[in-house]
Amino acid sequence: MNTSEKYVVKFGGSSLASAEQFKKVCDIIKSDERRRYIVPSAPGKRCNDDTKVTDMLYACYDAVALHNKDATVEFEPIKKRFDGIIADLGLASVLSLDNEYEQICENFKQKAGSDYAASRGEYLNGIILAKYLDFEFIDAAKVIKFKSAKSNVGRVFDAELTNAALATMLSKKPYAVIPGFYGASPSGKIKTFSRGGSDFTGSIVARSVNANLYENWTDVSGFLAADPRIVDNPEIIRVITYRELRELSYMGATVLHEDAIFPVREANIPINIRNTNAPFERGTLIVHNSLDFEETSDTPIITGIAGKKDFSVISIDKDGMNNEIGFLRRILTLFEELDVNFEHIPTGIDTLCIVLESSELDKHESLPEQIRQVAGINHIVVESGLAMLAVVGRGMREKRGTAARIFAALAHNGINARIIDQGSSELNVIIGIVEDDFNKAIRSIYDIFFNTKP
Ligand code: ADP
Ligand code: ASP
Ligand code: MG
Repeated sequence: MNTSEKYVVKFGGSSLASAEQFKKVCDIIKSDERRRYIVPSAPGKRCNDDTKVTDMLYACYDAVALHNKDATVEFEPIKKRFDGIIADLGLASVLSLDNEYEQICENFKQKAGSDYAASRGEYLNGIILAKYLDFEFIDAAKVIKFKSAKSNVGRVFDAELTNAALATMLSKKPYAVIPGFYGASPSGKIKTFSRGGSDFTGSIVARSVNANLYENWTDVSGFLAADPRIVDNPEIIRVITYRELRELSYMGATVLHEDAIFPVREANIPINIRNTNAPFERGTLIVHNSLDFEETSDTPIITGIAGKKDFSVISIDKDGMNNEIGFLRRILTLFEELDVNFEHIPTGIDTLCIVLESSELDKHESLPEQIRQVAGINHIVVESGLAMLAVVGRGMREKRGTAARIFAALAHNGINARIIDQGSSELNVIIGIVEDDFNKAIRSIYDIFFNTKP
């Protein structure tokens, strides 16, 4: 084993949900000296009807800061979760978080913000894990930097400052625990990434130390070809490229945060997704280019399928649209002015469809009317209740008949494809269907590629 190598190792919420899970995590870390920088999430669910600590923290903060409930009473179940882990790990005589709890309750009363509240799950869990491993604890507020909140959403991460701060700090520490999900703005205000953001922290840390590998440990044996809550026992993807993974995670394969590949991709650091409950399995390797990796002849044409619900489509119809210079620009300028995000724009000669998340439309109910005005058209149809699917695969480019198989599978199961869009890289096909067909569509596409011989 080459001990000058460095691995950054992130553990998700279910991997750290109880003392029993902490023990598995500790065994994994201690079994390989290269596992030096550990990024923990907050404790997740111990069973299906359990609540994640992050969700408990958001709810507790709302009760205290918005509804003036008693902070100590509301915080009690959270305190119990952490104290339970400490006691079950046998750390009660050497570690007490009472002062931390007191400080957190006080800050909740002072309305420190919901980002601050949510971040405490990772913060406290990091302290426990560091103690248990006998590694140094580094508060992410010191090394994960956000830009000042002048920017619109106040979630703007400062990659350069962070990289410098982390590289300096970690060059002096051979082993450390750095909690995931949060950092701080220049004024010291705690900020979080979006949900699932500990994956992103892991990637940032991996880049800053130029890690040889970023291991992401979770509760499934790798990136699966479809959501295991929809398809029974989907195949494990052995090797996937960053680009394929981004397409799938953006479209709902939540096993890895959709932004987590950016920092490591820049430094060409592979990610290995592994299962804390089955550490002997090799999981999924995420690489820059699958050619760097031995591609076997049975590499599937389709790498995976993912999908998301709650989309709407605005359909615009105007004779001669193709000859009207600036037509699309006027519509897109309106979107920019209103700060509305869209996902896809499939076009015809006289038609244009804009696919967007329904929540974007809810924010601007007058959007269709405004489009009508800037585009000088009468006919606009808005349809909601759509789901978008992404069928992704680097093998698609070389294989004829892939689209035919996808649409045959859908047609065979009585599913109408309302929207079809193929990415210019020929890496993916995006399909819009009605939400009621969501699970059936994913299963039928999975079946035709993974269970049926061509
Ligand atoms: P963690 O808490 O470890 O970060 P997450 O809950 O964020 O874990 O992600 C793991 C979960 O993602 C799995 O338990 C699984 O239900 C879900 N999931 C959805 N799509 C996929 C997929 N394509 N492959 C693997 N897991 C998936
Ligand atoms: N604990 C946070 C969440 O539940 C971040 C994470 O788990 O990655 O979203
Ligand atoms: Mg996650």
